[in-house]
Amino acid sequence: MNTRLERITEESLALGAELIKSGELVAFPTETVYGLGADALNGQAVKKIFAAKGRPGDNPLIVHVASKEQMMSLGYWNDNAEKVFNAFMPGPITMVLKRKMVPDEVTAGLDSVGLRYPEHPDAQRFISLAGPIAAPSANISGKPSPTSAQHVFDDFNGKIPLVLDGGECGVGVESTVISLVEAPILLRPGGVTLEQLVRVLPDITVHDAVLANVKLDAAASPGMKYKHYAPIARVVIAKNGEGLYRSALEKGVKVVYYRKQDDVTDARNLFARLRRADEDGLQLVIFEMPNKEGIGLSVANRLLRASAFTVIEKGEVFSLLLGGDTVELQG
Ligand code: AMP
Ligand code: MG
Repeated sequence: MNTRLERITEESLALGAELIKSGELVAFPTETVYGLGADALNGQAVKKIFAAKGRPGDNPLIVHVASKEQMMSLGYWNDNAEKVFNAFMPGPITMVLKRKMVPDEVTAGLDSVGLRYPEHPDAQRFISLAGPIAAPSANISGKPSPTSAQHVFDDFNGKIPLVLDGGECGVGVESTVISLVEAPILLRPGGVTLEQLVRVLPDITVHDAVLANVKLDAAASPGMKYKHYAPIARVVIAKNGEGLYRSALEKGVKVVYYRKQDDVTDARNLFARLRRADEDGLQLVIFEMPNKEGIGLSVANRLLRASAFTVIEKGEVFSLLLGGDTVELQG
């Protein structure tokens, strides 16, 4: 298949909407990351997303809408849904509600559905033309999420007909996911921060899986149980990043070290940095331990997964496997 990479225009949006309506996949920009979209009401089309990404079948998709009415037609509304909608939508947040008429392929058979109303103007125009769109992040499953159209093209060239190019994503990490089916719970931190959520939902709790490597039941937040965001290079979080970096350089390891800046910038750069590691043929990527405030909580959540929960203490000896060899580094 020939994959077209098209800047967003009236024509490319119309072409994208036509492809979605005929059961094809189209990648499109949002304020968080690029999405790989299919008609949310067409189970056969939605199946193609799982095949193209290599996504496990029990990991549900988020349905993207372009109005409140559309959202209310897909999930059962409640008081908390109204509060969250008024406070944060359109925006980088997904709410899980009891599902109405959404196919099993979208929800992975769950009785609930994740609903999102993106803020990105091009995403809104696209969804308005194409109808509700089921879309996960537009990356091969397990790889870092895409924050540019080129990232999407790198992963899906030859596999999907169209990538709509709307430039770089502003937020850089995926949407916040909260469930409002029962008492409010944060399942995945993202573009809307926990501090913002607490102001609207004072009794919201945080799922253990946000910052820990816990076993998960299927319904909690299925996506959290999979290896995620990982480049080929080894990723670690270090308490003494400078020391570990020097130690790696001395041993001739191809390494990069990212000190934290501010949480918003760190979130925006995160996935591009992970992708660049492989383009540059690096062996080790060291990140300073993020602050867990604001969007920093999302950066910590993604980095913990990208590093398979590897946090190196100051002074700790870290054994880095390189092919058949082990190199001992000091944190
Ligand atoms: P992605 O779009 O790839 O960023 O993944 C979407 C994530 O949203 C999934 O991995 C799930 O963790 C979460 N999600 C979507 N729908 C539901 C649902 N019905 N219940 C719980 N979590 C959901
Ligand atoms: Mg994803």
